[in-house]
Amino acid sequence: MALNFKNTTLFFIIFIGFVIFLLNAYKLNLNNKDIKSINKIKLTHIHAPTEKKPKLSINEINNLDNEFSKTNNNLKYTETIIIVKKGQTFSKILDNFNFENRKKFEIINSINEIFDLRELNVNQKIIFLGNDKKIIKKIILELDFKTNLIVDIDSRINVFKKELETLSVIDSKEYLITNSLYSDGINNNIPNQILIKLIQLFSFDLDFQRDIRKDTQVSVSYEKIFTQNKSEYSFGDIEYARVTIKNNTLEYFKFITDDGFIDYFNREGKNVKKSILKTPLDGARLSSSFGMRKHPISGFNKMHKGIDFAAPKGTPVYAGGNGVIERAGINGGYGKYIRIRHNNEYKTAYAHLSGFKKGISKGVRVSQGEIIGYVGSTGLSTGPHLHYEIIYQNKQINPLTLKLPSGKILKGNELERFNKNYKMILANHLNNLFE
Ligand SMILES: [Zn+2]
Repeated sequence: MALNFKNTTLFFIIFIGFVIFLLNAYKLNLNNKDIKSINKIKLTHIHAPTEKKPKLSINEINNLDNEFSKTNNNLKYTETIIIVKKGQTFSKILDNFNFENRKKFEIINSINEIFDLRELNVNQKIIFLGNDKKIIKKIILELDFKTNLIVDIDSRINVFKKELETLSVIDSKEYLITNSLYSDGINNNIPNQILIKLIQLFSFDLDFQRDIRKDTQVSVSYEKIFTQNKSEYSFGDIEYARVTIKNNTLEYFKFITDDGFIDYFNREGKNVKKSILKTPLDGARLSSSFGMRKHPISGFNKMHKGIDFAAPKGTPVYAGGNGVIERAGINGGYGKYIRIRHNNEYKTAYAHLSGFKKGISKGVRVSQGEIIGYVGSTGLSTGPHLHYEIIYQNKQINPLTLKLPSGKILKGNELERFNKNYKMILANHLNNLFE
C-alpha cells in the first residue's frame, strides 16, 4: 500500500512539473515575440580584479538593450552573451555562430588591429547581437570595467573602442593595525588595489617591517568608480591617507599640480617623500635606455635592465635615495658595483664604477645625493659610463617611466589652490567617517 501511495505522489509531482514547464514554455514564446530573447546569460560571472555590485543584473540587460535600440533605429536584436572559458579562443567562440570562414577571419583580423585577441581573459564577457534573421550584426567585447570594444559587422567591418560614462564617489575607512597594514586593511574591507597604492605612497617614509607597530592607525579616502550598464565597479586614486604611529602622523592629500601631475602633499604643501633620483649624477648624457638591445660587447640581443649615462671617468655618482648599502664590490660583468636598499620595495644599483667613495661599504647608511662612487668602465663596458638600475620588488624596472613622487614644495598660487583643496578633501573624509 505504501508503495502505491508513493507512486501516486510521484506521478502527481511529475504531472505538476510538466504543467509548470508548459506554462513557462508558453510564456517564453510570448516573450520571444514581444521582446528580444536572451539566449545564454550567465551574469553571475565576475571579472577577476573588480568586485560585483549586487542586484543590477536585470537592469544591466535592459540598459544594454536600450542602448542598442536607441542607436540602431529600434532594430530588434537577439542577444547572446558568452563568458570566455579556459582554453577557449575567440575563433572557437565565433564557431558558435554561422559566419562564413572568410567573414570569420576578416572579423578576427579587424579586431586584432585594435585589440590583441590573445589577451582575451577567462571570464571576459562577449555579447553577440543578431538581427531577426539571426545574422550577427554587432559584437561587444568588454575590455575593462569602463571600455568596450565594438565590432560592427556589415559588408564592411568596423572596430572601435568605446569608453563608458563613469560616476565616482569617495569612500573613507579608518582602522588600527594589529597585524599588518595590508592584512588589517583587507579585514576592514579596503580594496586590494587601494592598499597597494597606500603602501606605495608611504614606501619612502616607512619601512613596513620596522616602523609599523601595533595600534598604528590608518585613515584613508579613495575613489570608487561606477560605470553605466555594468555590474562592476573599480577604484581610482587615493584622495587622503594618514598613518599615525604613537604621536607621529604622516599625512598626504591628493593634488593635481599646475603642470598636470597627480601627486601627494602634506598640509604644508610639501611632498615630503624622499624619492629616488632618476639621474644620479650631474652633467651626464643618456646613452642607452631600458629594453631590448644588441649588447655592445657580446653582440647578442639582450634585455638591457638599466639605463646608461655617458660621463667622463671620475664623475661623482650620487646615492639615488636614502638607504643602506647592500653590496659594494666587484660583481662580474657589472665591474665595480654598488647596490643600495631604500626600503622594503626599492633598491638602486650602480655599475662599471672606477672606484668607491671612502667609507662606502656594506651596511653603511647613505642619504640621497651623497657621493658613493665614481664613473668608470670596469667589467663588461666599452667606455666610461654609469649603468644605473632601479629595482622594485627585486626586479629591474625602467627608471625613466617610473612614476615617483616629485619632492616638490608648493608655492604662491599653486599653494593657495592646494590649501583650499586639502581642506575640502579633509572635510569630506571626516564627514564620510563620522556622518
Ligand atoms: Zn647598462
